[in-house]
Amino acid sequence: MSINKRSVNTLKSTCCYCGVGCGVVINKEKNGSITLEGDKDYPVNKGMLCSKGLNLHYTANDKTDRLLYPQMRYNKSMPMQRVSWDDALERTAAVFKTFINKYGPDSVAFYASGQCLTEEYYVVNKLMKGFIGSNNIDTNSRLCMSSAVVAYKVALGEDSVPLCYDDIELADCFYVTGANPAWCHPILWRRVEAHKAANPDVKIIVVDPRATDTCSIADLHLQLNPGTDITLNHAIGRVLIENGDIDVDFVTKHADGFEQYSKIVFERTLAESARICGVSESNIRLAARYIGEAKGFISMWTMGLNQSSVGVNKNLSLINLNLITGHIGKPGSGPLSLTGQPNAMGGREVGGLANLLPAHRNLANPLHREEVQKFWGGTQIAAKPGLTATEMFEALNDGRLKAIWIMCTNPLTSLPNVRLAEEALKKAKFVVVQEISNKPETLAYADVILPAAAWAEKEGTMTNSERRISYLNKVLDPPGEAIPDSEIICRFAKKMGYKGFDYKNAAEIYAEHAKLTAKTNIDISGLTYDIIKQQGSVQWPYKKRNVTIGTPRLFTDKKFYTETGNAHISAVPDTLTSEIPDEDFPFILTTGRIRDQWHTMSKTGKVNKLNQHIKQSFMEINPLDAIELNIQDGDVTIIKSRRGEVNVKAKISAAIKQGVVFVPMHWGKILNNDLHRINNVTNDAVDPISKEPDFKYCAVSVQKYKKP
Ligand code: SF4
Repeated sequence: MSINKRSVNTLKSTCCYCGVGCGVVINKEKNGSITLEGDKDYPVNKGMLCSKGLNLHYTANDKTDRLLYPQMRYNKSMPMQRVSWDDALERTAAVFKTFINKYGPDSVAFYASGQCLTEEYYVVNKLMKGFIGSNNIDTNSRLCMSSAVVAYKVALGEDSVPLCYDDIELADCFYVTGANPAWCHPILWRRVEAHKAANPDVKIIVVDPRATDTCSIADLHLQLNPGTDITLNHAIGRVLIENGDIDVDFVTKHADGFEQYSKIVFERTLAESARICGVSESNIRLAARYIGEAKGFISMWTMGLNQSSVGVNKNLSLINLNLITGHIGKPGSGPLSLTGQPNAMGGREVGGLANLLPAHRNLANPLHREEVQKFWGGTQIAAKPGLTATEMFEALNDGRLKAIWIMCTNPLTSLPNVRLAEEALKKAKFVVVQEISNKPETLAYADVILPAAAWAEKEGTMTNSERRISYLNKVLDPPGEAIPDSEIICRFAKKMGYKGFDYKNAAEIYAEHAKLTAKTNIDISGLTYDIIKQQGSVQWPYKKRNVTIGTPRLFTDKKFYTETGNAHISAVPDTLTSEIPDEDFPFILTTGRIRDQWHTMSKTGKVNKLNQHIKQSFMEINPLDAIELNIQDGDVTIIKSRRGEVNVKAKISAAIKQGVVFVPMHWGKILNNDLHRINNVTNDAVDPISKEPDFKYCAVSVQKYKKP
């Protein structure tokens, strides 16, 4: 590790952006600011950082937009005023108690974030489910990972990413679908690029309606019509069966459901599937050949599959390809779901979603509820699942929900059909916003504002996309009166009169969480802070089958976590339930990330260098569509859906399919003008099982903006 001469302290941490989870070495300078570099010893990134990670210190050093002290107003017409922590939390506790007593525990809710540390997630989940007595706690992970969670459970019996990043260098075929890792998970993708450069025979198949940077090293780009993923995956499955490229031993001894699957994938002819998907039969055959010939096959995906009204089925249709070929539980193989947030996995481990319990226990199982309730010593855990992300805002709108506590997330940029969410916050009786920045739009609706410590200002753990738990050091003091999120929640719990929140530090919270994982599939009960710090990071389960150094790869014994012990191959239908284009709204809108911004830009948007890459929102449109609409590159356009509209400049590009337009997800209101916010337009329809919204497919119209 190189130590900067000006630094007085050098500590390790993990990047707080995407789920790749790169290690960083932070140098604390004598002037109190920090610099940083990639951690060369860290197994994930081996010293590399992407543009976002490299600029993390600018965000951490810049305190100009930080919330410095608690604020409160006694009624909606009053201005916010500075108050003490005690006043803010006592009033909040009094209001929560009033609603709970009058309307029941389901009248309040917490909406948290995949950016929270595991310890923060743990205490807020414990507070809500174990003491307030409602499961109304959900997070913005609902918007990105919940379809993958359900699919892993169905296919493998547990929400378990079966492989590790070191499998990348052992694979000889990658099927990357619904993802642009070159921009959104860059360090992971650099490992794939380096592997391909050293081994040109490695095959890379990219499935995307857009020709993204990820396609630049692809052997095959299947530029499918949006929404046809299941049809394509089934068609590839069909050809694998026809070619005899099935692992017969695996599907007969270690998997259920192959018979039904083999029927459903033959329901369409290959020609019909090719026509629906908008790709050639020969390319479907080529993809199947690459997969069929592979000794190690990794499927890799993210929001393009998850964010759909049929997100679970899309996931299952993909995982099927690994299962029918037996590419799971062995080197260089497995379905790798990439998480968008740094600790979406940690949130799932502590049960921080409306339908989960700690350590992946099942809320619907009375024995699991009893086990957790006894451990916590609080109230009975409700059997009814709580409100999910979009449902919370619906419930505020219709009055079922009276109070919401928004923690570490910016829903007025990130939720679909976001104007409805804005209406909901206007109607809410009481809104608490726990935040680091004074920028998010939610602050305008807050009755209480609580300043939180940011990354590097608190200690705790996170879990990345390969189940790797890392420890984040506290390097900086939070500005003003800001305190760590876990401390805010624990102080509030005590004001509510609850016992069991008297932790001395984050280590004690972590230890309690770890204890609760004992004898579960994610068992880390023997894993202490000290061991994580000593080893640098550890992949769960820690104690599983006497493995004492963590578990890089699951299911090596072909025993899955299902009741039968077999993996499950799902014969999912390939119907699409998204909003279909028609005469009034003839285009399909899809949204996504750009390279140098992250989520709603509250952190990356502070960095000048990152803002230079793409300075403003845009709409990518195919040249033939642009000609038809008389749109020139750079023209301001109006995109309308049944829910709202936005005005963004056109970027004409042959990289996108005809009939499809793409707009980045990052921009919210600019100077109170919401016409750059693409979520004015997106659809809040959700997958019926995962409740994940369909950000990737809705019907819109496009026209050139004309001055009135
Ligand atoms: Fe951070 Fe992700 Fe970039 Fe790594 S790849 S530096 S975790 S944003």
